[in-house]
Amino acid sequence: MLDEQVRTAMFAHLERLTALHPEGVTSAEINQFSVAGQPLKLVVQPGIWKPGALDAALTIRTTYTAPNQLPPYEDAIAPGGLVKYAYRGTDPNLSDNRALRTAMQGQRPLAYFIGVAKGVYQAQFPVYVVGEQPEEHAFLIAVDQAQRLVDPDSVETLPADRRSYLEQLVRARLHQPVFRARVLQAYEKRCAICRLQHTDLLDAAHIIRDSDEGGLPVVPNGLSLCKIHHAAYDRDIIGVRPDFVVQVRRDVLVEIDGPMLKHGIQAMHGVRLSVPQHRAARPDPNRLEQRYEEFLSAG
Ligand SMILES: [Zn+2]
Repeated sequence: MLDEQVRTAMFAHLERLTALHPEGVTSAEINQFSVAGQPLKLVVQPGIWKPGALDAALTIRTTYTAPNQLPPYEDAIAPGGLVKYAYRGTDPNLSDNRALRTAMQGQRPLAYFIGVAKGVYQAQFPVYVVGEQPEEHAFLIAVDQAQRLVDPDSVETLPADRRSYLEQLVRARLHQPVFRARVLQAYEKRCAICRLQHTDLLDAAHIIRDSDEGGLPVVPNGLSLCKIHHAAYDRDIIGVRPDFVVQVRRDVLVEIDGPMLKHGIQAMHGVRLSVPQHRAARPDPNRLEQRYEEFLSAG
């Protein structure tokens, strides 16, 4: 098996799965993969995976974190938005670490699987290992092509606007899709207000806005909402009380308009949110309250 052939086939497979399920793909679906007629598993163990037929790592993986915790890379972002990916153990010469180093030296593209629920992953690809920080027992991963052009050792010397551009790219490429996937998985892919199940029409809304302090991308700061309810929540047309009851702004409640306003918005007044079964994944009442105050002052 040629290394390049395997990687090309893997990306085509992941492309297809991710287009179908941007909110996360199960490990069983990911592993239904074969190349040149031979089955090849892509998700095998947490961490670095190098199939026997290859000389360099093919995939890396992070298991899912508890709903109220940030994914491991969130507090390990290096300058320029590069993701720090921890060694297996602390010995740089363990075979897994060597396999990832070989991928770095050969500039081989990898897939990065980020756990968003039990056995469900958001796939990032292609990603590249662009550096190593032996003293921190970590590799540096570029998740966007633009990051590959930057020398990790000189990121600190880049102009501030260029650095913030790179960090923005990583937010769009990595942080936002993972947050969306985690929230949608927690809500079983439904709108918490109207229960719409069309995942194409669902977003992960922040309760405390991500531009505000405390607006962390964790599930208890999120709500799975359809596009219209997301926009209505962001614009304070709809509010959610800390006891999970939906309120429609008074002036909007008395408006006369077509069926979308009537059935889509006004009829939601007094509805109780459908929240995740798992208690730790439910919306945080303190965050809801803080945001609800804002809603009240908008009315
Ligand atoms: Zn909805």
